[in-house]
Amino acid sequence: MAGAIAYISRDTDGVAWRRVFTEALGPIDFRTIADGLGNTDDIEIALAWKPKPGLLASLKNLKLIVSLGMGVDHLLADDRLPHGVPIVRIMDEGLVGQMSEYAIFWTLWHHRDIAKYAASQRARQWKPEEFVDTLHRPVGVMGLGSIGQDTAVKLAMLGFPTLGWSRTAKTLPGVETFHGRDSLPTFLSRCSILVNVLPLTRETRGLLDKTLFAALPRGAFLINMGRGAHVVDDDLLAALDSGHLAGAALDVFDTEPLPTTHVFWFHPQITVWPHAAAQTDLRSAAAVVAANVEAVRRGEPAAHRVDRSRGY
Ligand code: NAP
Repeated sequence: MAGAIAYISRDTDGVAWRRVFTEALGPIDFRTIADGLGNTDDIEIALAWKPKPGLLASLKNLKLIVSLGMGVDHLLADDRLPHGVPIVRIMDEGLVGQMSEYAIFWTLWHHRDIAKYAASQRARQWKPEEFVDTLHRPVGVMGLGSIGQDTAVKLAMLGFPTLGWSRTAKTLPGVETFHGRDSLPTFLSRCSILVNVLPLTRETRGLLDKTLFAALPRGAFLINMGRGAHVVDDDLLAALDSGHLAGAALDVFDTEPLPTTHVFWFHPQITVWPHAAAQTDLRSAAAVVAANVEAVRRGEPAAHRVDRSRGY
C-alpha cells in the first residue's frame, strides 16, 4: 500500500473524506488527528485545514499538502511550513458557483431594496422605493481568479455594468477590467457595489480600509466573501456610521467564529453569515483531490498548485 494520507482538521472528523477517498483510490491508509496520526514517517499526503503551526513540518516524508479550502492563508501563516513540498488547493466548480450565488444574491438584495420591502410588508405599507435601473448600478469585483471571474461574468450577464480588478491584466466578456495598485482608485470610484474575493496575502491584508472606502462613491454597498482580515473593522464601521457606505454583507471575519460581543452582529447595516458563502461538496471536490494524489504518486506534477511567493 502507498504511504498514508493524513486528515488534519479539527472542524470535522474526516469520516466522509475517508469514505470518498476509499471509493476513489481503493484501500488506503487514512489517518486523522482525532484517531491519532500513528508513525508520522509513513505520511505522504496531508489534507489540511488550519493545521497547528509546525505540525506539517514534523511530517518528514510529506510529498503533498492539500488545502481543504480554496484559500491557503491558513497554511502560509505557518512560518515552519516545510519547504519544497508542493501545496495544492481544493478546486471545485460547485464551490465557485456557490460563491457567485452569494455575490449575486447580496447584489440583488441591495439593488432591489429587499430589506426595505420586507419591512414595508411587516408594516402593511404600500411603498414603492426609489428605483435605480440595473444599467446604472455598476458592480466591481476585486480578485479575478477562479471565483471572481465566474462572479463578474454572471453579474455582467444580469445586465450590471461590471468592473473587475486583479494583479495582472485580464480580458473577460462583458467586464471592464483594471489591474495593479495604480488603477485601484479609478476602479473603486466607479463601483456602486463592491465584491471582494481576493486571497489574503501580505499585499491584500487590511486593503479594505478607510482610504479604500473613501474612494467608493457615496452610498456604495460592500460584499466581502474573501477573508475577514482584508477589512479594517473600525474603518468599515466608521464608513457605515457616517453614511458613506449604505451597508455590508459579510461572510468572513478576522476572528471566526465572530465573537458574540462583536458589534457586527447587531449593526443595522451589516448582515453576518458564518463563513458559509460556499461549502465544500465532497462528491465533486474529492474526485479532484484524489486525481491529484494519484498524479503525485506517479511522479507527475500536481494541479492547482499554490505559488508560495505570491501567497495564493
Ligand atoms: P485565485 O484563483 O487564486 O484568484 C485570486 C485573484 O486575486 C486573482 O485574480 C489575482 O490576480 C487577484 N489578486 C491577488 N493578489 C492581488 C493583489 N495584490 N492585487 C490585485 N489582485 C490580486 O483565488 P480564488 O479561487 O478566486 O479565491 C479567492 C479567495 O476567495 C480565496 O483565497 C479565499 O480567501 C476566498 N474564498 C472564500 C470562501 C468563502 O466561503 N467565503 C470560499 C472560497 C474562497 P491575478 O489574476 O493577476 O493573479
